[in-house]
Amino acid sequence: MPGSLYLVALPIGNMEDITLRAIKTLRAVDLIVAEDTRNTRRILDRYQIKTRFHRSYYQGVEKERVVPVLGLLSDGNEIALVSDAGTPLINDPGYPLVRAAIAAGVTVVPIPGPTAAITALVASGLPADRFVFAGAVPRKDGERRALLEKIRTEERTVILYESPHRLLVTMNTLVEILPLRSIVLARELTKVHEEFLRGMPSEILAILKERDRIKGEFVLLIERGEETGSSWDSASAIKLAELLKEEGVTNKAAIRIMVHTLGIPRNEAYRLIHPSS
Ligand code: SAM
Repeated sequence: MPGSLYLVALPIGNMEDITLRAIKTLRAVDLIVAEDTRNTRRILDRYQIKTRFHRSYYQGVEKERVVPVLGLLSDGNEIALVSDAGTPLINDPGYPLVRAAIAAGVTVVPIPGPTAAITALVASGLPADRFVFAGAVPRKDGERRALLEKIRTEERTVILYESPHRLLVTMNTLVEILPLRSIVLARELTKVHEEFLRGMPSEILAILKERDRIKGEFVLLIERGEETGSSWDSASAIKLAELLKEEGVTNKAAIRIMVHTLGIPRNEAYRLIHPSS
């Protein structure tokens, strides 16, 4: 009879964010398949988990490691898959193994726990009733722009992972493509320097530029857009807002005009007319 494959979530910073069931499972299984055995060793030592590791299972080798791990499962071994932080498969290795295990009739058991995306979402202050996790922000400029353009019409809160090295580039692109969307940057979640920056892209960019160095791990959240059925560009919207103000049109009327002529979402028209809100 084949063993089961357990997908065990580990902390994303604070070492105490591990469930009793995760500890129990890691102690009980025959082998642990870890993204990086050195990183996982720290947490195993802390909770006196003595289970042996199978070889590392990181992105570059994950496809070639599927067959040996499947072999071990077929021989009846109970195996836990963990990644360096958070939940396996969430922007981490594991998907090919889970697919192969399901196809081979192996029971796959999730052991839930932290994941940076959901941890950031719940404290972001952005709507959490409908959201989309869009993975990591693409590294290539063209792909990053294409993604942000697509998000213009996204009606759910968007969650993205971003590295500290590319954060400024992404923020500059956000200022250009989604200047009127509220965003939240969640930094170093569950760690000593946990921080939430909330505001318009230009405001967050200004805060980041004042810092000597951009450090830590980041989740970027983008407020959802309102579907208006029409496309409009930021430059025309800003110009129209200026003209309406110059002509002495009341704020309420200006918002109505912008919504009905350009098809700008009401929340974004409001911000154009009240820039400090
Ligand atoms: N499997 C992980 C999870 O469940 O969230 C994600 C792993 S992914 C390789 C690493 C990225 O997740 C980081 O670059 C960062 O964007 C995000 N991340 C992980 N831990 C974080 C933390 N403590 N604070 C903020 N972001 C974090």
